[in-house]
Amino acid sequence: MNRATQLQQLREDSLWDMVVIGGGATGLGIAVDAASRGYKVLLVEQFDFGKGTSSRSTKLVHGGVRYLEHGNIKLVKEALRERGWLLKNAPHLTSVQPFVIPVKRFWQKWYYGLGLRLYDLLSGKLSLGQTKLLSAKETMALLPALDAKKVKGGILYYDGQFDDSRLCIDLASTAVLHGATLINYCKVTGLVKEKKKIVAVKVKLHNSEEELEIRTKSVLNATGVFTDHILRMDDPAAEQMVDPSQGIHLVVNKIHFPGTHALMIPKTDDKRVLFAVPWHNKVVIGTTDTPVDEITEEPLVLEEEVDYILEHINRYIEPSIDRSSILSVFAGLRPLVRSKEGTSTALLSRDHTIVVSVSGLVTITGGKWTTYRKMAQDAVDNAVFISKQDKRLCITKNLPIGDPIATRQKKENMVKEQPAFDQLLHPDFEYKWVDVVYAVQHEMAITVEDVLARRTRILFLDAKAAMDCMDIVINLMRETLGESEDWASDQRAKFLDLAEGYL
Ligand SMILES: Cc1cc2nc3c(=O)[nH]c(=O)nc-3n(C[C@H](O)[C@H](O)[C@H](O)COP(=O)(O)OP(=O)(O)OC[C@H]3O[C@@H](n4cnc5c(N)ncnc54)[C@H](O)[C@@H]3O)c2cc1C
Repeated sequence: MNRATQLQQLREDSLWDMVVIGGGATGLGIAVDAASRGYKVLLVEQFDFGKGTSSRSTKLVHGGVRYLEHGNIKLVKEALRERGWLLKNAPHLTSVQPFVIPVKRFWQKWYYGLGLRLYDLLSGKLSLGQTKLLSAKETMALLPALDAKKVKGGILYYDGQFDDSRLCIDLASTAVLHGATLINYCKVTGLVKEKKKIVAVKVKLHNSEEELEIRTKSVLNATGVFTDHILRMDDPAAEQMVDPSQGIHLVVNKIHFPGTHALMIPKTDDKRVLFAVPWHNKVVIGTTDTPVDEITEEPLVLEEEVDYILEHINRYIEPSIDRSSILSVFAGLRPLVRSKEGTSTALLSRDHTIVVSVSGLVTITGGKWTTYRKMAQDAVDNAVFISKQDKRLCITKNLPIGDPIATRQKKENMVKEQPAFDQLLHPDFEYKWVDVVYAVQHEMAITVEDVLARRTRILFLDAKAAMDCMDIVINLMRETLGESEDWASDQRAKFLDLAEGYL
């Protein structure tokens, strides 16, 4: 997947079957689905693939245990099926993660135990492991960070875990493998209509004033929390569809949570769940649910959100953690589908919604990472129907994502030619110099942030470590891209500014 080749294809092709706006989980899933059915697809992303919500999740491939409590069996069952297929189709980016729910009262063990047994039963053949009730001693053995005085027992259950932005990149390369064209740093600035139907989109490439008009048979709006911007490009009077809700995560060292099991707290003060999950040798703790008005690509973490997480997690663990333990903190915005006035965002549906406008624009939003494949299938089916294109069967249930063997082979060859590429970027992480050069040459990375935040995950895991290895990344990228010293200074300033927000 090479950016210059993709740009060339953008300029050469004159009529697309589908243009997808947005390069997060939903849009990339659509590109894979449509390209693998044989449609001619273009996807454009205004920033980098996964820059939006899709790199800021809790990294769980899950059915959503808590929706069971709301009686939403259908939603859970569908997500559990998707969980199973994703673990099968992308084994190199996903894993089975054991979770423990500690209980402070005996009745809770049976209450949650029964619910989780049902959760497991609903996953059928795609079960990841049997739910088990634990004694206090067993619970402490699996989660030694817990405060033993408060533990009366626990429940062990299984869900999936993944690397969200890496999955974005592998979805992108899979779409390209099946013939799609994908461009990052390319923003949709307008929609062109003839007889009230959309026939083209206007796009602007980053660092260019040129506006290109791209002709297409159909357009899919997969822009997450930016959904309403595109809807209003289509119809300035369009009703608001998305209520964004912010969630943050803290990352701490594993020393605070030794072992391999994740902690799940089933009910916080505002009736949410809270997780502490081992990830890339650190632990991710989250999340919050804060309604927000301002939509931005780099949402700001609020002080009270950090306090909320520390307060709730410290009710369970001993010794407690404080701000000095935090290695990185990041915020993301959930694209929740709007409902009646007065409903808290914690209660808004996590199911997805598709709206087809009079102009033919197909908008898809809501849902969650775990169900991206089904969302994509539904969106493509709608686009095909509305634009009267030939119907073709969806094949993504059994479609491998990414090609880890070929990737490893290419990187090994690069290291053979340039032994220096075998060096680590930072002593605390397994990422190497070769990963930076590979990201530029084969994964369309063009900024230092692309490499340190989404091709590797160093910024999300340890913001200070990311700053420490920034100069190595800048030098490698400058050489590979053939950029100037001015470019390097600009990247350095921008990245330092960004990383401050993760500290
Ligand atoms: C805190 C938090 C935790 C979560 N945890 C989980 C979890 O553990 N498991 C799970 O399954 N789900 C989880 N989710 C949900 C999941 O992350 C989201 O449902 C999913 O990432 C949404 O993807 P998306 O593609 O719809 O949106 P995004 O990822 O936001 O993608 C939309 C893209 O559209 C682009 N765009 C917007 N306007 C334009 C334009 N004009 N031109 C071109 N591009 C444009 C944006 O730049 C953006 O990259 C979580 C969400 C949050 C916020």
